Amino acid sequence: TMQAQWNAVDDYFCQQLVPQDAALEAALADSAAAGLPAINVAPNQGKFLNLLARIHGARRILEIGTLGGYSTIWLARALPADGGLVTLEYEPRHVEVAAANLARAGVAGQVDIIPGAAADSLQRLIDDGAPPFDLVFIDADKPNNPVYLELALRLSRPGTVIVGDNVARQGEVANPANPDPAIVGTRRFIELMGSHPRLSATAIQTVGGKGYDGFALAIVER
Ligand code: SAM
Repeated sequence: TMQAQWNAVDDYFCQQLVPQDAALEAALADSAAAGLPAINVAPNQGKFLNLLARIHGARRILEIGTLGGYSTIWLARALPADGGLVTLEYEPRHVEVAAANLARAGVAGQVDIIPGAAADSLQRLIDDGAPPFDLVFIDADKPNNPVYLELALRLSRPGTVIVGDNVARQGEVANPANPDPAIVGTRRFIELMGSHPRLSATAIQTVGGKGYDGFALAIVER
């Protein structure tokens, strides 16, 4: 099957390019043991985020959707010593598991996990006058993606990079008749990225161990 081939190629790429260390492996093992869904980014996607943050020289990173902190570890490891990451998570159990995983990975001192609904946390960051983020990774509840994009823009500066995960939705993103709120939200997200005067964006379909999916990438122009 195609999935078997995608798995084999992802395994090969990960073996050759993405050595896992004990902290990353333990983060996934403890997330699974705690009953968290395995909807974290794949290792080679985590490394992609890490490389993107380093290429961009990101010092302040915002993540929406922490889960067990797997992508958080990849992103936090891209930060300089004086950099910081804010990650937003609704489920208290996920916050708890992520906190332990981040501590074991040695990045807890650079990461602030804000519990609660991400839209509320983003509004609080705006109200508190938080300095702009250099990179934003949007990976939470997909129906809210347009809301997260608008709020993230208020925490951005020209040059801020915004990544949105899981935008292909098994191809259903191209189906305007699909009423699934995740599809509707993803379509609004893509259309907002395309039409927003402050953004220049693209989206890429992907295959791999996590199946068929894709991500959107944007830069804040002004
Ligand atoms: N970024 C993680 C990774 O790759 O390791 C995976 C995140 S998972 C796909 C999505 C997360 O968003 C879940 O942990 C879920 O509980 C959280 N979430 C869902 N709705 C949310 C909301 N309204 N506010 C904040 N987090 C939310």
